[in-house]
Amino acid sequence: MARVYNFYAGPATLPLPVLEQIQKDFVDYQGAGLSLVETSHRSKEYDAVHARAMSLIRQLLQVPENYSILFLGGGATMQFGMIPMNLVSQPASGGTASIDMTLSGSWAKKALSDAKKFATVTTIFDGSDGSFTSLPAASSLRSTAGAAYFHITSNETIEGLQWKEFPRVEAPLVADMSSDIMSRPLPIEDFGLIYAGAQKNLGPAGVTVVIIRNDLLDRTPADVPAYLNYRTHAEKESLYNTPPVFSIWALSLVLEWILDQGGLGAVADRNRRKASALYEAIDGSSGYYRCPVDTAVRSDMNVVFRLPDEESEKRFIAGAAEAGMIGLKGHRSVGGVRASIYNAMPEEGVEKLVAYMRDFRS
Ligand code: PMP
Repeated sequence: MARVYNFYAGPATLPLPVLEQIQKDFVDYQGAGLSLVETSHRSKEYDAVHARAMSLIRQLLQVPENYSILFLGGGATMQFGMIPMNLVSQPASGGTASIDMTLSGSWAKKALSDAKKFATVTTIFDGSDGSFTSLPAASSLRSTAGAAYFHITSNETIEGLQWKEFPRVEAPLVADMSSDIMSRPLPIEDFGLIYAGAQKNLGPAGVTVVIIRNDLLDRTPADVPAYLNYRTHAEKESLYNTPPVFSIWALSLVLEWILDQGGLGAVADRNRRKASALYEAIDGSSGYYRCPVDTAVRSDMNVVFRLPDEESEKRFIAGAAEAGMIGLKGHRSVGGVRASIYNAMPEEGVEKLVAYMRDFRS
């Protein structure tokens, strides 16, 4: 079987050894005589997988003891509402609660739109006037007095920009890391809450990882339904109800693979090399390819670029697919080309794309 190089933004390419392991174990899980997806989530087989997945997250990201790791459903999208539902409480002094948000791109915009349903939102940075091509210096940012939390989107998957450093603000820092979690080491202590859908760097879709500082669990108003209350999941180690067992199993295998690669430092170095090769190909093309994003905040995960016209972009994408490189079409809202090069994209895939870019323009 010839596998293509898959540049989809998510669901995205997974490490081949992980897919092969799943294939090997799918029907008869480690000699148990049944598949893990047919096994009770209270069984010893599943329990070991669940515990291993959590401990690998703790180990790889060096998550301190005073943070809980949660496995939830609903995607990152559910977190857009669940975060304010849990973290915003009406000020005892009266007045309205407030949230600080950075409007860095399409995903931040969605998070902002739900946050507004729970509190007054202060837009700390608004990148929409520059069509989302830059970010402010993280060190220049402050939270506003009394803000329930300060929200960033660490990597904008559609516009291809990424915070390289994180704001250090008084309010708890909350980050949507859907498209760059596990791509680099993180100063977890600087965050109050991190969330990420799995389907880019963690595994198949179906599980959303939330890492939350335990003191924030005390904020949830009493009328929040059980599933939507973070404390429910923290207290039951994400076994309050049936978790997405297949996705968590696959996630545990992806994390084992990251560990085998040398952990997040090694993975980050490789991600940097891959992204640099593409940005050099763009910048060295005498203007044929153009990346609209400010050099300092170009994403290592989603490399976006334009060609001189849309017709050339269409031919570029179609030709790449014929050559075994799929998923290069930019998001339908912005057009252009986007190469998503998450952890599992091998360097050879990027080298092949760079060679194709060179050939295409000559
Ligand atoms: N945030 C970001 C940064 C994303 O890239 C995505 C998905 N592409 C989402 C949120 C939404 O995630 P989900 O589809 O898991 O709800």
